[in-house]
Amino acid sequence: MVISKSPTVRDLVSINMLPQDPMISKAELVQFDKVQFGSQLSGPRLHTQDSVAVAQADADGNYLYEIGSPQFDQVNTHGIVAGALATYEHYMGHTVPWSFKGPLEVNPHAGEGKTAYYSRWDQSINFFQWDSPSLGKIVKTSQSFDVGSHEIGHAILDGLRPGLLSGTEGKAFHEGFGDSSAILHALQYDSNLRQILADNGGDFSQPSLVTRLAEEFGTAFNKEDDNPNNDDHPYYRTALNEFKYADPKTLPSDSYPPSQPEEVLTSEPHSFSRIWSGSFYSMLGSLYNQCAADAPSQLDALRQARDVLGTIWGKSLDHIPAANLKFRHVASAVLREANQLEGGKYFDSLAAVMLDRNLLTQQQIDELHKPVRSFRLEQFPQTRGGAEDMLSRLGLNNHPWRADQALAGADGRRVYTFRAPERVELDLGSRGAAFMQAEAGLTLVFDAAGQLVSETATPLDADDRADLNREARALADSGQLVGEDGIGPARLVPRRDGPPEYQPLPVWKD
Ligand SMILES: [Zn+2]
Repeated sequence: MVISKSPTVRDLVSINMLPQDPMISKAELVQFDKVQFGSQLSGPRLHTQDSVAVAQADADGNYLYEIGSPQFDQVNTHGIVAGALATYEHYMGHTVPWSFKGPLEVNPHAGEGKTAYYSRWDQSINFFQWDSPSLGKIVKTSQSFDVGSHEIGHAILDGLRPGLLSGTEGKAFHEGFGDSSAILHALQYDSNLRQILADNGGDFSQPSLVTRLAEEFGTAFNKEDDNPNNDDHPYYRTALNEFKYADPKTLPSDSYPPSQPEEVLTSEPHSFSRIWSGSFYSMLGSLYNQCAADAPSQLDALRQARDVLGTIWGKSLDHIPAANLKFRHVASAVLREANQLEGGKYFDSLAAVMLDRNLLTQQQIDELHKPVRSFRLEQFPQTRGGAEDMLSRLGLNNHPWRADQALAGADGRRVYTFRAPERVELDLGSRGAAFMQAEAGLTLVFDAAGQLVSETATPLDADDRADLNREARALADSGQLVGEDGIGPARLVPRRDGPPEYQPLPVWKD
């Protein structure tokens, strides 16, 4: 894979890596920009670390380790995360920031366990392994393309929108973004495209390599868990589903890993995320069907559908909320960009998915065709104060907004995000009363000429506050507040002058 927009010849290196899960693919040589790999898996964005010797580039700068050595795992993981990052930067047209300074640390051998996680606090992604009795081998998440692409997805989204730590849909979108990243990244490899078409024959209502997420991990996990009904499921999650959007308060709650059968949609974020990942995969299928009508071959149609999806998806991320995200905001952002690409020729294909999945109503879709109010900046604010001053000119000083991010966007756009804290009282059942600092969000996007392109405000309403309480209570009830390992989705911090503060943490496990 060579993802580079620059017409100049880059310094390329070859690495030997698995372009899919080890159960279903063989290692192949993949080319990357050398800058992300250096002489010992280290570059300005990514730094691989291990307790055993870290792989070294050969005299030509290449990493040609064979599967079976720990160095292969290191190179493989580094390649997966570098590839996913390059995929996003290619489609977004600019650098994706981290939510911290310095390179992201990649730990391919973080310890024993059936897990992997991304932590902003540790500035790292971490991959675990276990001796699987059902497969008779060590199952390593460092070898899983889907697990690696999912985890780096958390880091990418956290860099773009660090305020998505709470709320059922914000947390579920993080998980759905990870799975969508695994799908989009897998589509960058020709060997995968050919296998997808061999699996499904061009019928995207059928399962294939790209619908089955984390094949080896899931196969072993399912055989070894307490649920006899999933023993023959060759994936950890599948993007081939028909889940429709439903208000999370109408769904059962659950712990994680799930205790409910796969068919049951719950408000637990990994379960609820399947609405998004299923919709993302449906978008691919819908675009494929449209492209196949004119393309000379199925392979050409799939490549075209991939790039349309990637381009729309990458640009749509400019518009997503800074906090209190709902799936409908992301669906609107996708359609907004579909409206702009090639005269809007893909809009109807994608709008059909949003309607079918209950993500948007026809009225909400129609409103996306209306022009945005006319407002033009003479110059882009350069400071937080300048960004906040801009809000009064826009009549948006209705919340205690604090300037958050000022980001490069697609096509020379500028993206400004704001967050406004709001105290929410919580009832954690047997754990008593608590409170949290929830946040409203505001995202403003301007084109290169300073014209307002979109404004997405997400104030907190009574439903949102109830959702935050429900989410916190579900974690407290199921004993998932942060434990002795310090890794968990949230914690309770004692406060001298009142109830404890519930704090969502920037750590995404699995
Ligand atoms: Zn995750």
